[in-house]
Amino acid sequence: METIWPLTESRNSVKSLIDRLAYQVKRTPGFCNICGRLTVFKTHVAGFREHVECIRCGSRNRQRQIASVLMAYASARNQQPTDLVDYLGSGPASRRLRRGPTHTRMASVKDLPKDIVVWNTETTRAFHLSLMNHLGQNYISTEFIDPSLSSGEVLNGVMHGDIQSSHFADDSLDFMITGDVFEHIPFPEKAISDSYRILKPGGCHIFTAPFYHHRFTNERRATLQDDGTVEEHMKPWFHDDPMRAEGALVFNIFAPELLCMMEKQGFEVRLLKLHSPLYGIFGQNAIVLVARKISPDLSKRDAVFMN
Ligand SMILES: [Zn+2]
Repeated sequence: METIWPLTESRNSVKSLIDRLAYQVKRTPGFCNICGRLTVFKTHVAGFREHVECIRCGSRNRQRQIASVLMAYASARNQQPTDLVDYLGSGPASRRLRRGPTHTRMASVKDLPKDIVVWNTETTRAFHLSLMNHLGQNYISTEFIDPSLSSGEVLNGVMHGDIQSSHFADDSLDFMITGDVFEHIPFPEKAISDSYRILKPGGCHIFTAPFYHHRFTNERRATLQDDGTVEEHMKPWFHDDPMRAEGALVFNIFAPELLCMMEKQGFEVRLLKLHSPLYGIFGQNAIVLVARKISPDLSKRDAVFMN
């Protein structure tokens, strides 16, 4: 018997041993998939998720996780959507699906196809700069500046973007990237619906967000009321935010319920766990989520029970 949920930590595994070694040696050589160079990663800070800085471009672990998934899905974007029946069994197709799409070894953001249209909800730091330099006009970056602005408005050279009600046309984006943004929005269901609207068929929302390993339902920590005030259900929790000194309030911590919400919307959803020391991706919490807009959506398929 094996418990597959709660997610188990690989405490005694080789991966965990590699993490501990990396922490002890403090510097680990590798290849940065954001600046595309051989580099050294700073592995001396505990809490790998937000650290493991590349000494060349300053990129962090979590950004490289998203970059890795973006490259894999960009190279697989023309493939047919997954057939549900492939999830069953243990043949090569099933193993390939479990592993998910992969990208070429030692590839970086600079190897992404230049014709993909990408929206990223951050306007600073290494990953943003690398995407902007490579994709040019096909890259749109925004911050959530102020709720009084409309999505798409520009203030002091920075575009305001609202993932709950964005300004993009239907079926217009190949990829939408949100790195630790989803937990800060009061109405995730609106963002799920809007992301489905704006992504092209086959397009993906690739994102990170704090994700519980031990429960099924999302934890609602706060609610935005109709009058604009916030009702706290739990101790308020703020994350650092370049746009506001007080930080950004966390409204939800997610769990598999989020995957259900996205699947009901029509997305094919993946919860990916990464570990790739070569690319400076360490730790037991390297979780990236992918919601891929497929057609027809999962709810309209009846493949599993045909077998
Ligand atoms: Zn780098």
